Amino acid sequence: VIELGQPRREVITTCAYCGVGCSFKAELNGNTVVRMTPWKDGKANHGHSCVKGRFAWGYAAHKERILKPMIRASIDQPWREVSWDEAIDYTASEFKRIQAKYGRNSVGGITSSRCTNEETFLVQKMIRAAFGNNNVDTCARVCHSPTGYGLKTTLGTSAGTQDFDSVAEADVILVIGANPTDAHPVFGSRMKRRLREGARLIVVDPRRIDLVRSPHIEAQYHLQLKPGTNVAVVNALAHVIATEGLLNETYVKERCDLESFRDWLAFIRDPQNSPEATEAYTGVPAADLRAAARLYATGGNAAIYYGLGVTEHSQGSTTVMAMANLAMVTGNIGRNGVGINPLRGQNNVQGSCDMGSFPHELSGYRHVSDEATRALFEAAWGVPIDPEPGLRIPNMFDAAIDGSFKGLYVQGEDILQSDPNTHHVGAALAAMECVVVQDLFLNETASYAHVFLPGSSFLEKDGTFTNAERRINLVRKAIPPMAGYADWEVTMKLSAALGYPMSYTHPSQIMDEIARLTPTFANVSFKRIEELGSVQWPCNDKAPLGTPIMHEKGFVRGKGLFVLTEYVPTDERTGPRFPLILTTGRILSQYNVGAQTRRTANTAWHEEDRLEIHPHDAEHRGINDGDWVLLKSRAGETTLRAKVSERMQPGVVYTTFHHPDTGANVVTTEFSDWATNCPEYKVTAVEVRPTNRR
Ligand code: SF4
Repeated sequence: VIELGQPRREVITTCAYCGVGCSFKAELNGNTVVRMTPWKDGKANHGHSCVKGRFAWGYAAHKERILKPMIRASIDQPWREVSWDEAIDYTASEFKRIQAKYGRNSVGGITSSRCTNEETFLVQKMIRAAFGNNNVDTCARVCHSPTGYGLKTTLGTSAGTQDFDSVAEADVILVIGANPTDAHPVFGSRMKRRLREGARLIVVDPRRIDLVRSPHIEAQYHLQLKPGTNVAVVNALAHVIATEGLLNETYVKERCDLESFRDWLAFIRDPQNSPEATEAYTGVPAADLRAAARLYATGGNAAIYYGLGVTEHSQGSTTVMAMANLAMVTGNIGRNGVGINPLRGQNNVQGSCDMGSFPHELSGYRHVSDEATRALFEAAWGVPIDPEPGLRIPNMFDAAIDGSFKGLYVQGEDILQSDPNTHHVGAALAAMECVVVQDLFLNETASYAHVFLPGSSFLEKDGTFTNAERRINLVRKAIPPMAGYADWEVTMKLSAALGYPMSYTHPSQIMDEIARLTPTFANVSFKRIEELGSVQWPCNDKAPLGTPIMHEKGFVRGKGLFVLTEYVPTDERTGPRFPLILTTGRILSQYNVGAQTRRTANTAWHEEDRLEIHPHDAEHRGINDGDWVLLKSRAGETTLRAKVSERMQPGVVYTTFHHPDTGANVVTTEFSDWATNCPEYKVTAVEVRPTNRR
């Protein structure tokens, strides 16, 4: 319960929800937050906010916060509160015991996109230096890892090309697999402002999202595709551009790799990529595809904004590269109003990727096999770095079930509720001998944990978050850590107990180390961020004030690379038993697994997960609006209420995954992106039946 009173002091900080990264003024009375007010000088939000950042901060002081470390020898025993020293010593001794018995690679950890850059950097450093392996991954694995792969391959860097302000100069906005008015509301509002001013809109989405038709806004084209056919749709747009002479030949000749371009041109002109050939399986009328392609290529500055509806597919990385092909061939990268812009889900997804949280990359996206990079880190850290990539999150689960992976440290993520195929994740966790969860609350994953370490909220620490436009914002401590330590301090304690002591006294020193070791962060420091308000990387001697627009004079990789993006249908197929396709998403008032938003005082926010179903599919099954239904796939089943809605197309159903009671990921499957293992949350073959059960 938050006790309100008159604010007596203010702290400027950054929202801990989505990847827009809005700045807020936390107003406090003593150590009680009284109000969060959007900060007028915030570079990402310019004084605006959405309901989550403004009103959903009460979770930080919720009575369910766990403030004492706890341990238990097995998961069928009750938790026992212990001192920090006992918890840390026990954890370190368990990890050491497991490594002595099963080998160096039998343990690993998962960093959090909820934590600061500095905390994330320390966790991956501890794993590499103290565990001595590269078994570190991030929750970005299950959302935007294809963005990293696709944009790095084609353009040379694993990040979006634009700042948010750039949308004000877009003439054509292509939104694909994103729902910005719900998931990125402050940026969604800016996009709507530009659309009301006259920019034209193409939406590619299986569902009729609000942006398709809202007051004073109507999409010119809503390409309502079948889930899983993004690549075919983007290829069809490119086919029209390539066969109707709408290419920007000057741009391609100057900026792109011509050999890859010639190969791509022959590929994309093939009639199998034409709108007429793809209409049958994408479900998008060929005439709409042709008209949308012409608008994108000839309508002026054309900007692509995309989200998890692109990445969370078996061809997530392919779609990212197909969009890069589309933008390069029309010259729409490298200036204001254009570009390819991933709308990152969590507050620090970009940062957690930047900080070396992937098992194959050190900070700044440098591969662990690169000798010069390893030598740099080995000299700074005084330990050898393993040249072999470590395990990705799904590989950790598989190895646990095989018996070779026995210990896991999870910081700030509820993998049991958020990762796909819950039964598989549970079996993997149950097979481990030491699971350590560090979080604010006893989350679903903690039911399999042996050690619980209390986490600290964004109000309780200094640090930085990096938003979707590569903007590094300061997070400032408003109150002391409620459990005694901030997350970065806990990682330091654990690392010391494991035999690798670290000696930072403030997160700014961690950022100084990041800057020394990471060329794109070379000129970043807390002081520089304070002076400028925020900094967009790359920030180094070539760009001392940061870089709002990437690839202005040339691509980071040199010449832009065209990739042959062949459409390959997912292995997840509908059939007589499971005739419908389930796709998932989020709503404005909830956030991911709901750990924070469900713990706000305002019960109006506790909207349950619903299954949206088209009236034809509902009528065929005898389902009325509000009925309980059984949602079943070959992975599992759950029950929830139906919401009969013409937003859906026949044959496709939709739900959110905010509530553990629903546990929507019980039904999602193990299929994943071919390049990155990002789960295919967006395509699950299901059946839906009326039920009386809750
Ligand atoms: Fe927070 Fe995102 Fe809302 Fe901004 S748009 S207030 S960052 S949740």
